[in-house]
This record gives sequence, structure tokens and C-alpha cells, in this order.
Amino acid sequence: MSASRHPALSATDPELASYVAAEEVLQAETLRLIPSENYVSAAVLEASGTVLQNKYSEGYPGRRYYEGQQNIDRVEALAIERAKGLFGVDHANVQPYSGSPANLAVYLAFAKPGDTVMGMALPMGGHLTHGWGVSATGSWFRGVQYGVRADTGLIDYDAVRELALAERPKVIFCGGTALPRTIDFAAFAEISREAGSVLVADVAHIAGLIAGGAHPSPADHVDVISTTTHKTLRGPRGAMLMCREEHAKAIDKAVFPGLQGGPHNQTTAGIAVALHEAAQPSFVRYAHAVVANAKALAAALLERGFDLVSGGTDNHLILIDLTGKEVPGKVAAKALDRAGIVVNYNTVPFDPRKPFDPSGVRIGTPSLTSRGLTTEHMPVVADWIARAVDAAAKGDEPALAVIRAEVGDLMAAFPAPGLPLS
Ligand SMILES: *Cc1c(COP(=O)(O)O)cnc(C)c1O
Repeated sequence: MSASRHPALSATDPELASYVAAEEVLQAETLRLIPSENYVSAAVLEASGTVLQNKYSEGYPGRRYYEGQQNIDRVEALAIERAKGLFGVDHANVQPYSGSPANLAVYLAFAKPGDTVMGMALPMGGHLTHGWGVSATGSWFRGVQYGVRADTGLIDYDAVRELALAERPKVIFCGGTALPRTIDFAAFAEISREAGSVLVADVAHIAGLIAGGAHPSPADHVDVISTTTHKTLRGPRGAMLMCREEHAKAIDKAVFPGLQGGPHNQTTAGIAVALHEAAQPSFVRYAHAVVANAKALAAALLERGFDLVSGGTDNHLILIDLTGKEVPGKVAAKALDRAGIVVNYNTVPFDPRKPFDPSGVRIGTPSLTSRGLTTEHMPVVADWIARAVDAAAKGDEPALAVIRAEVGDLMAAFPAPGLPLS
């Protein structure tokens, strides 16, 4: 399979080619529920593997430190224009290598080492780069952290305001990696105004939902939007920073020369293609289907006796709380993997267990939606999850193998974008 798909690679480096081929099979045969993953289109894959790879382009379109940028300038300008149009912003920087460096550029633009910064605590669903201790952002800055209410699992906006007014952080991040509910950008904007803070919406997870109109946009409320391009947005691995004109210079200076050297032009090309795809009516349908599938899956899991953080979902993501079950998150995640269902174990808010062995499993519907699964399949998916968790509790390996075969059958009927037909 791979020899015909990647003839040069197979001839030059058969060992590496065999790993790629095996990954193609894995991605085709398994039910991928990791909410930060997806399947990019064949067009995005092609754009990301072009000779644009060969170019050095420090600077920005029309203002480069290298010659020979005639085509690269067009590629980057196209990506920028598409980002501005899709997200309704004055300015877009498409050069950050990934979400974490994008966030570091935001700090560089608006804060000095030692300044107070505020974000959601990692165990509550925030991201490492929102000032958490083990991250550079938590050791170079003084991170103060908010969380969710124990009774509702929802962000406690009163507590956010209280903390912001007491600490007056330079930068406030909203958004996260394990938040199943809609973020109230207007509420964060009001709090940030009162506290005199720069407000950043880190929409890495939900950028595709925003682009497709399935989650409110932060564009009118925040100073900066930070996003990865490879999660629900369904582009190559990369990131973008978007802002109003007043912050454009600060953001651009922070990304280059502040933090990075040459942009990854092949990735910029893939981002441009993904943004073009995201502007089509079919992407609006995809974004709404992601949410519809997540709501249907959450309902089916609740019916089967699972506890969900916040009681359900508004977006693409579901956090299953296994505190009341016999199997902790890691054991469940590993059993699901053996059953052909790929998830990640995750802390739940107020988790009694340790981060490397937590009580939760985090799942999401972007990948299965990209393959064309619909709400009618979600009870089947919930059944598989329930049976696999049950089998994990009993150590019933044959039951996991049965599920794996059933998963494989359904996946074969829904070929994944960008992958060879097996
Ligand atoms: C994924 C994510 C990031 C980091 O992205 P990387 O590309 O993995 O560096 C940052 N913030 C949030 C909220 C994320 O979900």
C-alpha cells in the first residue's frame, strides 16, 4: 500500500516507510476519539508536503530578509487573508510553529518576566501554557489560576472576577483543553476590562467550531485570539495569532524576531488550504455535526450510567468521570485502545487521583465526524465504550477483541479523508 502511495520514501527508507504505512492502517481501522485530533483532507496533506519546505523566509510578506520570496509571499498573504475573512479579525499571523509557541509569543508581546498572568488551572481543564507551574509560562511569570465550580463543573465567573481584581494580571487566558462547555467571552471581556488585563482567547480546540458557526466567536470580545490549526479546524500542525489592528505590530514582533526564525512555509500552505476548506458550506455542516454527534454521544453515555463532567457537552468534547467506576482513567483508556477505540486519560476537576493516573477519560467527535459518522451511530459508540470499560473491570480480553472487530467493520464503511482505501 505505502510503496505505491510513497514510492520515493519506500525506496529510500523502507523502514520508515513501513512505520508510516502501519500508521495509515491504524488511523483507518480505529475509532479515534481524541478530541484534539482529526483527519486532514488529501489536499491539506499534499500542500504540507511541497517544495515550499525548501525556502527560508524570515520576515513577513513584502518585508523579508531573504530574496526569492515571490511565491512564498503569495502563499503567506493568501493564508493571512483567509484567516482574517474566516474569523472576522483585522490581523492574522500564521507563522507560530504550534499552539505552545504561539502562546509564548503572546506573553512576549504583553508581559515581562515576573509579571502576574492568569489562566485556568491545568487539572480544571486549562492548558500548560496558561501559566501552569511545570511550563516555562509558569516559571517565567507568576501564574494565578481559576477553575470550575465543584457542584456544576462550570467556570465560576464570580471567582474569576474576584481573582482578576485582586491580582490585576497583565494577561488573562480563557479557553482550555478539557472544557466541554461554551466559553462566555463577553463575561471574560468585562472582567478583563475591570482588571486592566489583556484578554486572550485560546481557541485551539474549538477554532473549527467557531469557523463553522457552531460556537460563539471571541472576535468582538478579546484582544488576541490564539489557536492551533490542527484540531477541529482540520489543518496541518501549526498555529495562528489573530488580533485587532492596535496589537498587530506587537504580535508580529513577538513571533518574529522575538521568538522564532524562518516560518514553516509548507505548513503555511497547508493552513491556507484548510482555511479555504473551512470557508465552504460543507465545513459549516461538519462543525454542526461535530457538536450534534458529541451531544448524542453524551446522552447515550449518560443513559449507560456514566458520569460526565458538567453533565454533558456544548461542543466537541466529553470528559468522562470514572470516579464511581471500578476502573481508573488510565486502565480504561488502555482497554479502549485494545478495543480499537483511541482516547486519552485525563484529570477531572477535583480529581482524587494523581495526574499520571487520573480518574477521567477525555473523548471527542471531530475525527469520527470527518469520516461521516452521524448521531445514529453514537449509541453504538457509547455501547462499545460501556462494554470496554466493563471488560476492563473484569479483565475480559476476548470481549475487547470482539469490540475491536466490530469497530473495524464500521470504520471500513466510513473511509477516512486523506487515507488510502484499504
Ligand atoms: C492544544 C492546545 C495548545 C497547544 O498546542 P500545541 O500545538 O500542542 O503546542 C494550546 N492551548 C490549548 C488550549 C490547546 O488545547
